[in-house]
Amino acid sequence: MKVQSEVNIGLVGHVDHGKTTLTKALSGIWTDTHSEETKRGISIRLGYADITFRRCMECPEPQCYTTALVCEHCGSETQTLRKVSFVDSPGHETLMATMLSGAAIMDGAVLVIAANEPCPQPQTKEHLMALDVIGVKDVIVVQNKIDIVSKERALESYQEIKEFVKGTCAEDAPIIPVSAQQGANIDILIESIQHIIRTPRRSLRKAPRMYVARSFDINRPGCSPDKIQGGVIGGSLIQGKLHIGDEIEVKPGIQIKNKGKVEWMSLHSEVIGLNGGGETVDEVGPGGLIGVATRLDPALTKADSLSGSVAGKPGTLPDIMHQFTMKTHLLDRVVGTKEERKVDPIRSSEPLMINIGTTTTIGVVTSARKNEVEVKLKLPVCAESGQRVALSRRVGARWRLIGYGIIR
Ligand code: GDP
Ligand code: MG
Repeated sequence: MKVQSEVNIGLVGHVDHGKTTLTKALSGIWTDTHSEETKRGISIRLGYADITFRRCMECPEPQCYTTALVCEHCGSETQTLRKVSFVDSPGHETLMATMLSGAAIMDGAVLVIAANEPCPQPQTKEHLMALDVIGVKDVIVVQNKIDIVSKERALESYQEIKEFVKGTCAEDAPIIPVSAQQGANIDILIESIQHIIRTPRRSLRKAPRMYVARSFDINRPGCSPDKIQGGVIGGSLIQGKLHIGDEIEVKPGIQIKNKGKVEWMSLHSEVIGLNGGGETVDEVGPGGLIGVATRLDPALTKADSLSGSVAGKPGTLPDIMHQFTMKTHLLDRVVGTKEERKVDPIRSSEPLMINIGTTTTIGVVTSARKNEVEVKLKLPVCAESGQRVALSRRVGARWRLIGYGIIR
């Protein structure tokens, strides 16, 4: 069996609607505790869990779908269908940047909506817009907390959801009533994920390219100098493979001062350890989250200092951009707040929050003509022409998603 997950599935939705409980119901892993992920050094700030979908060969659909090794209905051994990684994004409105960088590595998403609250809640909408903006197409809606609503409310909530998803990437998404807490309808959810969220075709032959979501110093404080282990980066490969012994480059890398001038220097190292699906492996490919141990000085990788970077074979990564021009596509309304306002055109000299891959940076608009916008970046990015970026604007005290741009 393949150790590494084939596909990254995002769990998105408003705070307290049950994303973490659902991850737990599926896996038995509680994604809010970060001790396990720190120990393995591979997870991302978003909660994260590897889950194996299985089926019982004796029982009919949908009861046959499970994550248990032994079928709860007939007691026979179950067989592996697919290993998936769940990325549990924070539903709080202040954490949109984290949600957006997580969305960059989502191949599909489960939008969790609690049936006991009117739909849409602000971040239900903001997260769905984010999926739309980033281009995540395979979506399933979970109507959660079905155990605490009446039949009438369940039907009303279903209608609200149907109305809300109209015209979005979730328009045709199945809506599955679930109780994450009671573990009800989890089999139907797994069946639906198996049908709707396919493992994307990936280019294994292309040069490896990894979106770095986290980076760590895994040494314990006070460990003796001869025992110090190199820096670890965690994230997902979007193409290609990495092997033990490969040379890697991490870009844009680190900021250095050269004769008083600030410059960026990419980091070069060697892959000395790989972790996929929670196990040590010799080779990793695109799909689930991976951890890469390097010979880098751990001081360079500690506390997520390299998150947002891109890693790959030296000389194959895109150039570092300090500014770029993009073609913008703005939403009609600013979402994420209770009262929604119209999105005004982008103005010269305004700051925008820009998410590219797992990178978050600020771009100050240097010119804005219709939908041709040029930005100068506070932190440079490793990106290329044609790439999609999410755009947010400061509205009141928060960054609000306003649309996307395609780099010229
Ligand atoms: P998150 O913020 O979306 O990750 O939400 P959590 O998973 O932390 O859940 C928020 C609260 O809702 C917790 O107290 C859960 O126990 C509760 N909850 C989650 N799912 C269900 C459910 O299906 N039924 C009921 N009754 N409560 C639930
Ligand atoms: Mg949560």
